[in-house]
Amino acid sequence: MAAVLLAATSCGDTENATAAPTVTPLGDEPADFAVRGRWPEPGRPQLRYRVDVANAPCSPADCQQAIERAAAAWNATGLADLQAASDRDQQVVAIGWFRGDRGVQRSFGTTSAIAHAGPVARATFLHFDADREWNAESIYTTALHELGHLLGLDHSHSDVAVMGTAAVRPVRLTIHDLAGLHSLYGGDGSLTTAPSDLLIGGPVTQLRRVAPPATTAFAVFDTDGDDDAEVLVWRTDPKGHGTLTAFHFTAGRRLSHTRGPFPGVIAAGAKVGFVTTDRGHRYLVCHCDNGRVLLRQFDEHGFPGNPRRPLAPELADGATASVAGDVDGDGVIEDVARSAGRR
Ligand SMILES: [Zn+2]
Repeated sequence: MAAVLLAATSCGDTENATAAPTVTPLGDEPADFAVRGRWPEPGRPQLRYRVDVANAPCSPADCQQAIERAAAAWNATGLADLQAASDRDQQVVAIGWFRGDRGVQRSFGTTSAIAHAGPVARATFLHFDADREWNAESIYTTALHELGHLLGLDHSHSDVAVMGTAAVRPVRLTIHDLAGLHSLYGGDGSLTTAPSDLLIGGPVTQLRRVAPPATTAFAVFDTDGDDDAEVLVWRTDPKGHGTLTAFHFTAGRRLSHTRGPFPGVIAAGAKVGFVTTDRGHRYLVCHCDNGRVLLRQFDEHGFPGNPRRPLAPELADGATASVAGDVDGDGVIEDVARSAGRR
């Protein structure tokens, strides 16, 4: 139960979407997405859902159809396969309307959440609050967002993203949502790579659209002390507010989860280094424009602590970021490089 509580996601109140957002290319602007998990099977995740219409707020056919529309939007990316379960299928996602305390998440009615998505794991769920007013359109836009969580995406900072938290929820997937999905499931080497992709140990594992050269830098560093390095990507442009995201990998070099995004971690113009001390303490070191040096110590989960001045002889000067490390713990150092846009 605790694992479910930790991994489930609740989402805030929304109004019905009134207009379709325009999907604009990002150019040099980084895609804004976050990852909360990944289905472990190779290829696109195949999730079979069943809709329980017992407390459904509209006709069973209309409710089912609204969910199917949301599933179809994700399926259209070619990177997900969400289908209503047939009698033969093993159900993976239970969808339905519930009231108050269901024992699997914070009770409806105690927060502004209108729906809850379960963990990225078998026997997960999508629950709508039965005490809210629903119509086909709000079921669709909410399901679109919640299915994104079930596919492994977390909240985006972008107000136009389906995975964002704006009051008006978009009705179509945006480049931010697609980039997130591509980063999770698109890295099979068969798609054209872009300069904003990071290739990890070759073209097989890719983080897509996370590192445009004009606005980001990256490094490889073991933030949580488990001897497997994480890939760290941070914004270097003023608009990015020094936001840092850490991508954690499992054996097999699969993206398992991210930490962050952590805004304000790296001051604009700062030179960045990463240091592990003899005592095993791990630091992010910022050499600021004004000559100041600030440290943030990573905790055992890889979260960066508050900034502070270093205590001599805490760290040696001139620390540098590495661009290679063992991200999957197999004893082999992976190179991490930006894609040159090749096939
Ligand atoms: Zn959400």
